[in-house]
Amino acid sequence: MTFLPLVFHPNYSIPFSEKHRFPMAKFAQLEEELVRSKILTSNNVFSPSPLSLSTLMQAHEADYVQRFIRGQLTQAEINTIGLPWSDWLVERTLRAVSGTLLTAELALQHGVACHLAGGTHHAHRGYGSGFCIFNDLAVTAIELVESGKAKHVLILDCDVHQGDGTAEMCAAYENITTVSWHCDENYPELKQSAGINIALAKGLGDSGYLQQIKQDIPALLDRLQPDVVLYDAGVDVHKDDRLGYLQLTDMGIWQRDQFVVAECLKRRIPTACVIGGGYDRDIKKLAIRHSILHKAIYYLLQSNGMLCMPSNEELDFLRLSSL
Ligand SMILES: [Zn+2]
Repeated sequence: MTFLPLVFHPNYSIPFSEKHRFPMAKFAQLEEELVRSKILTSNNVFSPSPLSLSTLMQAHEADYVQRFIRGQLTQAEINTIGLPWSDWLVERTLRAVSGTLLTAELALQHGVACHLAGGTHHAHRGYGSGFCIFNDLAVTAIELVESGKAKHVLILDCDVHQGDGTAEMCAAYENITTVSWHCDENYPELKQSAGINIALAKGLGDSGYLQQIKQDIPALLDRLQPDVVLYDAGVDVHKDDRLGYLQLTDMGIWQRDQFVVAECLKRRIPTACVIGGGYDRDIKKLAIRHSILHKAIYYLLQSNGMLCMPSNEELDFLRLSSL
């Protein structure tokens, strides 16, 4: 039987202005879509508990953590983050980091697990930026190695933007490797040199993109032999995304997500997946785009780790379009 642990909390989508550039409602919509498509049921959904602040402060500067929680960031710091501060924002931010930690725990137990949030990779040790306050990927990787649950964590970041915060925060850890595939001509303007960075050309499209990751990922896994992978499956690589320029289709993302996870599972490396970035004015469309990750991995598990594409009927049911 296929068992794919999914991590969600209703507070991921908080009361928020619909006019804001950040699509806050997408998390609740994603959950609805996964319930509708029968990928998420009461049997495979897990809810994160409140985050331990000591775990958070192991990765982030204590002063920054405390000032964010107390609502004491400067206006300039809030502007760099790009999200208006509120008690609700504190709750959802801490809860989502806890969710990625839980996703990693579940991956260690079950082989693979997917979050319905996460991938706040622009958050740095002492400041937030680009809609990211705390860096769930770095917090989780650091907790895994510090607690001895993992000897070597590999972060595979396929969001269209460089995982600059993750690279900075993990640079001091020999046993954490960060890899970012991102569109070169995109935010952040100032790229981090730490970690492994693969800059991709604007307009690359499905075939060029898939060729690149098929060349890179098996080699990285064989060379580094990580015992946990954190995978950021950002959908801002999609052709209809407002902030990405890589021109992938639904099935391009489906093939990417299945390939990454299949290569990890083949090598028995527990893999925790987070949704990463995705920007579209149409929240429903965006939520469906994010659900490609969970659907693709569910189908991968159903086919015992063999890459597979949905039939035309299944595509309709999954609300996705073919190549
Ligand atoms: Zn992004």
